[in-house]
Amino acid sequence: MFDIVVIGGGPAGLSAGLYGARAGLSVLIIERMFSGGQAATTYEIANYPGFDEVISGPDLAKRMEAQAMNAGVRFAYEDVTALSLNSIIKEVTTTKTTYQARAVILAMGGAPRMLGLEGESRLKGMGISYCATCDGAFFKGKVVAVVGGGDTACEDAIFLSRYCEKVYLIHRRDTLRAAKALQTAVLKTPNVEPIWNSTVTALGGGIDILESVTVHNSKTGSDSELKISGLFVAIGTSPSSSLAEGKVELSRDGYILTDENMKTNVAGVFAAGDIRKKSLRQIVTAASDGAIAAYNAALYIGL
Ligand code: NAP
Repeated sequence: MFDIVVIGGGPAGLSAGLYGARAGLSVLIIERMFSGGQAATTYEIANYPGFDEVISGPDLAKRMEAQAMNAGVRFAYEDVTALSLNSIIKEVTTTKTTYQARAVILAMGGAPRMLGLEGESRLKGMGISYCATCDGAFFKGKVVAVVGGGDTACEDAIFLSRYCEKVYLIHRRDTLRAAKALQTAVLKTPNVEPIWNSTVTALGGGIDILESVTVHNSKTGSDSELKISGLFVAIGTSPSSSLAEGKVELSRDGYILTDENMKTNVAGVFAAGDIRKKSLRQIVTAASDGAIAAYNAALYIGL
């Protein structure tokens, strides 16, 4: 039995753990894989306050995890399979056991969105990747493409340009959505070639290897084939909220609805970070959400 069980060990969950433990509560963070969430797969973080030199995502994640551990947070690296949230004592069931808690903080974050193309799932890991930091090194000296126009796509293109002979940046519009500094950096990288107003409409190659993509230009209406060895999909994320479906109120697009105190519509259940309906998804806002959720969980418990 814990005062707070936090589900998800990304920046929101780690910050919730830190604040909960420092408030004198017993806190368990349950994480499926490794701490840090999406931040841990970001190669450089330049906008988290307090670091005047760029820090890598894995380093920041490690520091956040160590800080939470030092504060007394316990960690369980397990998959959560079910939630029972309506009673005073909540239950969180994992593949190993069932934990009880007075309050639960949902911080499961998001997962990369897929393009929805035929063969995409089959070719995942065989030329298609959703994490340039994880898989970029496999494409040393090769020609690859990144799809998307946001911060992730631009960061991925810059990162991959260091390993790869050439990086196409395929974007469905003719202006990038990414922060200005990233736009400037990516557009001046010599071996990054933007392909504007274009979407990937088909994947080409063998049963277990990606060799090309078909690119449709919405302005000209033309289709062309691009020979590439790797396709990095960076078109945003979807909330990892399937566990919360039917348990707490979600928006139509699957994000958890909270008030400004991170309270969901269920007493004693809070949400924090990218899983929450909000306007700015950054590490700093995830960390902020986590602190607010833990503070309000402590008030709810009566401490
Ligand atoms: P994002 O900001 O949602 O951008 C997604 C991009 O993919 C957009 O350019 C979008 O095009 C495009 N897109 C969406 N669906 C598509 C589809 N079906 N086919 C083709 N293109 C599609 O996602 P993100 O870049 O992953 O960033 C997510 C959040 O994390 C953002 O808030 C971002 O600021 C933050 N982030 C921050 C950092 C950082 O600060 N260092 C790094 C990474 C991410 P349109 O532009 O036409 O909509």
